[in-house]
This record gives sequence, C-alpha cells and structure tokens, in this order.
Amino acid sequence: MSRLALHWQILMGMLLGAGIGLSLNFMASERTTGLEQATLPTGIAHADLHDSPDLITIDITQEDGIQRRWVVDGTRRTPGSVATLKKLQSQDAQSYAIFHEHGRSWSRWVGDSAQKLGGLFLRMLQMVAVPLIATSLITGVMGLGHAERLGSMFARTLFYYVVTSLLAIVTGLAMVNLIRPGLGGEKNQQSHEAEIATGSLSEVLFNQVETMIPSNPIGALAEGNFLSIICFSLAFAIFALIVGGKTAEIVRDFFGAAFEVMMAMTMAIIKLAPWGVLFLMLSVTSTQGVEVFKSLGWYMLTVACALAFHAMITLPMIVKFVARRDPMEFAKAMSPALLTAFSSASSNGTLPLTLASVEERAGVSNRVSSFVLPLGATINMDGTALYEAVAVLFIAQLHHGYNLPLTDQVIVAVTALLASVGAAGIPHAGLVMMVIILQAVKLPVEMQGIIIAVDRVLDMCRTSVNVWSDSCGCAVVARYEATGKDSGGEIPESADNLD
Ligand code: ASP
Repeated sequence: MSRLALHWQILMGMLLGAGIGLSLNFMASERTTGLEQATLPTGIAHADLHDSPDLITIDITQEDGIQRRWVVDGTRRTPGSVATLKKLQSQDAQSYAIFHEHGRSWSRWVGDSAQKLGGLFLRMLQMVAVPLIATSLITGVMGLGHAERLGSMFARTLFYYVVTSLLAIVTGLAMVNLIRPGLGGEKNQQSHEAEIATGSLSEVLFNQVETMIPSNPIGALAEGNFLSIICFSLAFAIFALIVGGKTAEIVRDFFGAAFEVMMAMTMAIIKLAPWGVLFLMLSVTSTQGVEVFKSLGWYMLTVACALAFHAMITLPMIVKFVARRDPMEFAKAMSPALLTAFSSASSNGTLPLTLASVEERAGVSNRVSSFVLPLGATINMDGTALYEAVAVLFIAQLHHGYNLPLTDQVIVAVTALLASVGAAGIPHAGLVMMVIILQAVKLPVEMQGIIIAVDRVLDMCRTSVNVWSDSCGCAVVARYEATGKDSGGEIPESADNLD
C-alpha cells in the first residue's frame, strides 16, 4: 500500500474495513440474547427482556413496585453499542448493561479484535493531543509577535464559526421540511424511557464558561480538558508576549522546540491511519445491525443529504470565493483528517491529524491553525448543529403528525446552534445535547429512543463535516491574516505523497 498517496491508502483501508465488517455482519446474523437476572442491581426486583430485530427493551419492576421501560438499542448489542447505552442512561446504566449475546463466535471475535486494534490507533492520537495542542497554541500566539494581533483573528474566527453553523442549520431545516421523513412514517410511535442527563441551556453554557477558567491548569492538562487547555495556553502565551524581552524569547524557543517534536510524532502516527481506519470501520460495520437502517431510512437520507449539501456545496464555495483556494485540492490535503473523523466519530480525537494535515499538507501557517482548530474542535460543529435541527424536527413530525410551526423552528435553530457549541468533540455528544432542544420545543425526551440506533452512523458523517468546517475556517482566516503569503498559500508539493 505504501506506494500509493496517503489519502488513497486511507480510503482503501476504509473500504476494506467496511467490506469485511459488513460481510461478517451478514454472516453473524444468528444470535440469541439474554438478561443476567443474577446481576440485577439492588432496588430492581425483576427485569424482562423484549428482543425484536429493530428494538430491544427491558421492562423493569423496582422493589417499590414501580415499573419502567428502558430502550436498549435498535441493533445487536456489542461492546460498542452497550457503551453507548451506558453513556446515555445516567449513573444506573452500568448496572443495566448486563446482556450477553451469542452469535457466531469467530465473527464476534474479529469484530472485538478490530475494535481493540482501532482503539490503539485512537490512543496514539489521544497521547499526542494535549501536548500538541498546548505547544501548538503557544507557538502560534508567540509567532504573532504582538498580543493585539490576536484580537482580529479571534473576531474573524468567531464570525466564521457562527455564520457556517447557521448556514448548516438552515440547510438542515430546509431539507427536513422538504423531505418530511417523519410524516411518511408511523405517527406517535410508542415512547420509551431513555434516561438522559438533562440540564437547561443556560446551565450548560455557564458550565462552558466555567471550564474556560480552570481552577487547576495542571489538572486540566491531566484530564485532557480541551477548552481549559486552550484558554490557559492562550493566556500563558499572551502574557509571555506582554512580559517580552528575554523571557518571551525563552518561552518561544522552548515551546517551539517542543511543538516540532510533537509534530514529528503526529506525522509518524498519520502513517498508521490506513490501518487505524480499517480496524475502526471493521468494528463499526460488523456490529451495527442492518435491519434498523431500513425503518429509519428516510430520516437518515435527510440528514445525509443536508450534510452532503453543506460539505460539498456551501463550504467549498466559501473556500473558493472567500479563502480563494481550490476546494478539491484543499479537501485532498485534508483527507487523512476527514477520513479519520469519519471512522472515529470524534473531532477531539482527530485533532492532531487535523492540525498536521492543515499545516503540513495544506500549507496553512501554524499561527492560524493552532488557534482556529483546537477552538473549532470544541465549539464549531456545523455537522452537529445541522443534525440536531433535522433530528428534532423529525421527532416533532413523528410526535405531532405535522411540521413544527416557523416560530418553533426558529427556537430549534437557535438552541441547535448553542447546543452544538456546548457539545464535546466525542462520539454521541450531539445526541446527549439534543435533550436541551427537545425540551425547548416541549417534545418528549424519551422519543430520542427512536433515533439512538442509527446515531453512530450519522455521528460519523456529522463529525467529518465538523472537522471539514474547522479546516475550511483555517483557510478563510489565513486568507485575511495580513501577515504573509505563507498563510493562504499553495498546497505544498508533499501534499499528495507524505511518505
Ligand atoms: N461526534 C461529534 C464530534 O466529535 C459530536 C457529536 O456527537 O455530534 O464532532
């Protein structure tokens, strides 16, 4: 594979992984499931499992006699989807995730092994993420020379984030109003209880502001809390510039050298991306049920069309006319990051590759990328914002049997924007944040159970769009940075062949 350009290698890895995974999925369709009564947590007297190809629920009778119903997921339970369940169902969830499944053991073994190997690739990316972001950001700001120059870049970046997120939401709303996926389907499907951590929008946003001021910066570094790390690194670099003189020089040299080393490590990891993507795709496709896609087909199609429109028309137009770059070339340069985002469903996890691709393959200066990308991975999520708008309108169509009125759609648009800012760059974060929007337009939160089953696939698509939008933001901001030609420049020759 090593003779081929990197993006072709990654694409091959992806297709190969998906091909093997889907074949295993079909071959492993025999299965039985069961619930381990012996492991029931205290407080639960009895639990019954109802298993159908599309939906699995547990009826639980508590010791106080209260009965509850839990949606498990709409597909096979596997290590991947059970983990999703744990995340979504608050503290008690761990105790409820007690299924065992018997399928063809060898195919499950392949799926599980692929998940572990893909996990190793993600760990490598996680390993470099924190030091890379911190050193990159400090080096980038120090490169500006004056603290004042940060102001204009910040304003442009925020403007770009808001405009593109709103464009994405409008595209999503237009598509869901046009296709109306929920009106062709069954009306008022049964509600299922999926207990999801809730919180008001203001609370979530205030938490974000609080996170920006870490009470312990070292703790934030250790926890890998991106927003805290970004803010502290920014403050550190700005004050180093303000102190100036020899101090600024030492800081610049030290972090510059550390950044170079981290970049070299990341570039080495990038070469493993074809294998990482192959294993990740294999584990996802071998564990997601195929049946469930049929019933939610129109909904998925709506999300996919809207995401495709935003990624292939809106953003490329911005790249062409605002950033003045060739969108195809730019996308090609960004392909390792985009394909890794697709297979990992995590923009935070992909961040080291996004940084490396933007700088080394797309020729955007470190000053810009080190600022726009880490911040973007945390707060600029066009794909997530779009997805939330479509999903909530779809749920509303199913629930009410008609489209939400315009005023409610405006509420959806604004809350989707804010929810996407609040969502973390990790798998399924958008699903959790959706609760806020559902509450804002008074829809039953439990109805989210209907779309949980297909969330992973849609998450993969929206995460690539999130990363693509961050990358395009770099090109746009670089174009307007008056500092030099390098920032908006040509794709370097190495772009096609990284080896
Ligand atoms: N997985 C997405 C991301 O990492 C967030 C989401 O769930 O929408 O960008």
